[in-house]
Amino acid sequence: MQQHYIFVTGGVLSGLGKGIVTASIGKLLQSSGFKVTAAKVDPYLNYDAGTLRPTEHGEVWVTEDGGEIDQDLGHYERFLDVNIPKSHNITTGQVFHEVIQKERSGKYLGQTVQPIPHVTDEIKRRFREIAKENVDFILIEIGGTVGDYENVLYLEAARQMRFEGESVLFVHVVYLPIVKTLGEMKTKAAQHSVRDLREIGIQPDFIVCRAEKPLDDVRRKKIALFCNIKEEDVMSDPDLKISYELPIVFDDQGLCDKILKKLNLKKKKKDLKEWKKFIERIKSAKKTVKVGIVGKYFTIGEFQLPDSYISVIEAIKHACWCHGIIPEIEWIDSKIFEKNRDKLNMLKNFDGIIVPGGFGSLGIEGKILAIEYARKNNIPFLGLCLGLQLAVVEFARNVCGLDGAHSTEMDPKTPYPVIDLLPGQKDYIKKSEYGATMRLGGQKVKIKPGTLAHKLYGKSVVVERFRHRYEINPKYVKLLEEKGFVFSGTTPDEKIMQIGELPGLKYFIGSQFHPEFTSRSLNPNPLFRGFIEACIKK
Ligand code: GLN
Repeated sequence: MQQHYIFVTGGVLSGLGKGIVTASIGKLLQSSGFKVTAAKVDPYLNYDAGTLRPTEHGEVWVTEDGGEIDQDLGHYERFLDVNIPKSHNITTGQVFHEVIQKERSGKYLGQTVQPIPHVTDEIKRRFREIAKENVDFILIEIGGTVGDYENVLYLEAARQMRFEGESVLFVHVVYLPIVKTLGEMKTKAAQHSVRDLREIGIQPDFIVCRAEKPLDDVRRKKIALFCNIKEEDVMSDPDLKISYELPIVFDDQGLCDKILKKLNLKKKKKDLKEWKKFIERIKSAKKTVKVGIVGKYFTIGEFQLPDSYISVIEAIKHACWCHGIIPEIEWIDSKIFEKNRDKLNMLKNFDGIIVPGGFGSLGIEGKILAIEYARKNNIPFLGLCLGLQLAVVEFARNVCGLDGAHSTEMDPKTPYPVIDLLPGQKDYIKKSEYGATMRLGGQKVKIKPGTLAHKLYGKSVVVERFRHRYEINPKYVKLLEEKGFVFSGTTPDEKIMQIGELPGLKYFIGSQFHPEFTSRSLNPNPLFRGFIEACIKK
């Protein structure tokens, strides 16, 4: 089976949406009948994204097989509707670690171990490992910007693969700024980045031009001439209201046919119908629901950074769109409630509120106040991981009368530790082993018949993705249940509580897992779907 690699690189600046470009190309190839997977190279020295700050790097994505990974893998899953394993996120930390281990264990005896060929060989080995899966196309997005020191070894490895005769295409994504004072779209920075790429020995096969507006003919010609590429291979990638539309924007420019032509391949089928219908549904939506996300990772310096909760946002969108509804999402920094409780009344203006996942004690009391408000005022509520834990804390304090109840994560000395470390976690904390030691990835959830969770899932066992160290303390489960809290999802052995709900309210449910990680464009997660249905009714 002949396999094909498509490398996606970026130029001019970071944050161009290379992940969406990669996912969109994947979608086009997939809808032409090919099996596709995608991978992301992150040129930092962290081994994985587990210990990165969300405001700096965006949210941490959790894979089915328990990887704590770059959020781009989330784009791939949402677009392609396939599970992407953790081996598809390659970091420099992993590559160097492997090379040094091999050196120490004598695998390179007598040799001088060098970036080229030893590090590049290890990179190629990892790329080829992905190709062992039963797929026609492997899309590999190389993080960072061409010209950085950091990613040059990955570019070199990709260059070598083409040189060695493998089927490789390069797609380079550039940014074309429209300078306000000139009123003109400028191509110079893009030209320079292609020059940098060619210096490394890579001639891009396609150039994708990210810009506020569509590319015009004058600039297309200019880029073609200066970048040594045919005009028809210069693609326009203007700002879109809905990023899911990009596959169609590329299809209209014939990108998929052009890729296949270069590789001498024929389409096996053509079926963007369902995707087009999905986009139509989004565009024709008229009614809105207003969802408040009560969290803390919103700002870096003076700028808002909703990327920290990107999967939550996308999951809300998926659930809204399947009902033909426009989501209006607002960020609420929970700290404002701590300073001024009157502010809680603003929550009345929302059709529903979500308390997402989180770590540490910042803004915690504000979140608990918001949950209390939602419960008492019957505002639809969805708690994600930390959100469920805090709903339990609130219930313990205000309904069970356990004054000062808390999670030992925030208050190690609480008289009522209703949330406590999972068994086994204490050792990790003692030894300061924070990397990849949480309870991670896809785990079975047994669902209790007759509950809201069962109605939503329609099944008695599901698999959802987890990322936590703390759990609902089993010692308090009986008391919480007596007072009305229902644990509708548990581990199959019923030892760990995994979903909690309050019957009698419009919608009040929380999960110890992150349902946002299994939400797909055309297949929203049931907990989000139910939440949005409750918001519509409100
Ligand atoms: N900090 C909590 C825990 O470790 C919640 C984690 C989360 O929200 N992902 O259990």
